[in-house]
Order: sequence, then structure tokens, then C-alpha cells
Amino acid sequence: MLDYSTCDWLAGYRSFKLKGLPGPDSMRAAVLYGREDLRLEQVPRPTPAAGEVLVRVEVAPTCGTDLKVWQAGGHARMLRPPTLFGHEFAGVIAAVAEDVTGWQPGERVVANNSAPCYSCFYCRRQRFSLCENLTFNNGTFAEWLKIPAAIVRANLLRVPAEVPLELAALTEPLACVLHGADEARVQSGDRVIVLGDGAIGLMLVAVLAERGAEVILCGGNPDRLALGMQFGAVGSLDYHTVDDPVSCLRQLTQVRGADAVIEATGRPAAWQTAIACARPGATVILFGGCPRGTTVTVDTENLHYNELTLKGVFHNTPDHVREALALIASGRLPLERLISQQLPLERLSEALVHMRERSAVKIAIRP
Ligand SMILES: [Zn+2]
Ligand SMILES: [Zn+2]
Repeated sequence: MLDYSTCDWLAGYRSFKLKGLPGPDSMRAAVLYGREDLRLEQVPRPTPAAGEVLVRVEVAPTCGTDLKVWQAGGHARMLRPPTLFGHEFAGVIAAVAEDVTGWQPGERVVANNSAPCYSCFYCRRQRFSLCENLTFNNGTFAEWLKIPAAIVRANLLRVPAEVPLELAALTEPLACVLHGADEARVQSGDRVIVLGDGAIGLMLVAVLAERGAEVILCGGNPDRLALGMQFGAVGSLDYHTVDDPVSCLRQLTQVRGADAVIEATGRPAAWQTAIACARPGATVILFGGCPRGTTVTVDTENLHYNELTLKGVFHNTPDHVREALALIASGRLPLERLISQQLPLERLSEALVHMRERSAVKIAIRP
């Protein structure tokens, strides 16, 4: 029997005056027990405490991070099994705590999966992704999701009526992409290499192409590379088809190397490829989180004499979250092509197998 008393998401599971919803009930949720061990269970529905909002999850897209969590059976810093998981969603407010103002049941919303504290050393310096007290929220693969007060205050947004919720649900990953694209300081006409043909790599292609860059996408899946061309890439490279991807990529960037390189794979070898493809003076964005304890080697001569800028970029900021939803609402990016299919919550394991096999970019789970 699962001991629910250990689960964070039940911390607010107590009686509290609510606008909009009768007393506590149960809900269907995907509970992760261990490596690729996921069970659909009936669990208590969370009840919003002070400052919190309860949302009916309408759509929860799968993401590469969910795949990692499923395969690892948890997340070292955030999710100890048994646990709910999933972090991208859009839905409809079902109830709000009595002290919450400005939000009503029935409103269509999307929330980021985190919020900064606005008071720590880094927040005071506007470095919100480095916040020492980031509040995270997980558990979108469930019928209901409680939004913590910090996220209600900083990163809960109304979805415009004309925007489908499955697109609005891409706000969080797109916000991360905008953060990475901004840090790359790309100018119109720049030749930029994106390494990685996952959803993040493809969104990077779309965003950078829209900013006037000539983007070359490098990945290992022909279907996704073709999607990258639809997203505005001017060229692509399947690294399986060549002996020396670095020299091929340099050929595609006038031999000099790329004006900017963005790595979105989370593999140390790709980090090294990224650095090796950069022209003198380039910025290299190291975007994909690698497994803990891994290292890369950097050629000191290349780094020094070529004045490379190597930048780690993590997560997003509240400004990027707002910009991401506005960009989705503009309809300028064909983001619907990232959603390979829709599946009910009962078929989440199957969806994650598709993700593992790379036969889907993202799958919209409908709880
Ligand atoms: Zn994600
Ligand atoms: Zn902070």
C-alpha cells in the first residue's frame, strides 16, 4: 500500500475554504514507482491551501525530462518514488483558495513548472533561473494539479481564447528555448548550428530562424531533421551518415565555423562537438543537462586565442514564460507539428515508450 503521507503533493491536503469546489475527492494519476514502473492509480485529489489554485489538467505534453525521470525511476533532486510526475500542462481552474485574488474557476490557464522567490541573492540580480529557492511543481500526469502559491504569483498565465490548450501547454519548454536563444545573442544573418533534434532543438530552430538566423540542425533522426527544415532550418546533418560530423558542420559554416552553436542533447560528446564547431568569437550555448558527474575537455588554445564564449543555460525566467505564451498565441511558429499524437492518461507508459524509441517528438496526454 502506498504511503501517501510521504508525498509532497499531499502537503496541502487539508481542509481549507475554497471558491468553486466541494470537499476533497480522489483522482486518477500516474504514479511512478521505479525505473519504467508507472501505475495508474486512484489517489486523493489535492486541495489548494493558502495562495494556491487547483487546476483540471486538460492536456499534459510529454517531454525529454519526463522520459529521463521515467527511465531513472525518479529525479535526484525533485522526485522520490512513489511520486506523481510530469511538468508541462494547460488546463482550467477548478478552485482557488479564499485568499487568492484575480483568478476564477473556469479560466483557461497555463503555468510554468517553477517560480523564483524574488528575494534571494540571485533574484535581486535578476538572475531568476539561478534562484536559490526555486519552487518546482510536478504531477501533471493526473486529472488535477495544485499550483503552489509562488507559481500562482509569478508564473500562472491566462490562455487567450483562440489558443488551443495543447499549444499553450508548450509555454514552459518554449520559455526555456527563448532563454537559450537570447543568451546566444544571435544577429540576423548569423549562421547558427543547433545540435539535437528533440523538441527543444526543433523549437530552437523555429525561434532562431524567425530571428533571421541561418540555422543548421544536426541530429540523428531523419524525420525530425525533415521537421527541422519545415521549422526554417537552411540545412541539416544526420550525424549517423558521416564519419566526422565536426568537419561536415564546419563545411556548412564556410569552414570558419558557426557564429553561434546551441547544444540541446545533454550529452558530453555533443558539448565537445558544439565547441569544436564554433568560429573565433562565437558563443556556444550548453543547454542540455548532462548526467551528473560527467565532464568535458576544452582545448585551451581554442578557447583562449579564439575568444570563445561558453555559456551554460538552465531553465527559464518569468519574462521568458510570458514571451513564450505570447509567441504561441501569435501563431507564427508551426508548433502543432511537435505534437505527434494525443493519448489518454491510461496510455502514458506507451507514450513514454514512443519517446524512448524516438518515434514521437511530443505526445499530448489527455487526463
Ligand atoms: Zn519539459
Ligand atoms: Zn530567488
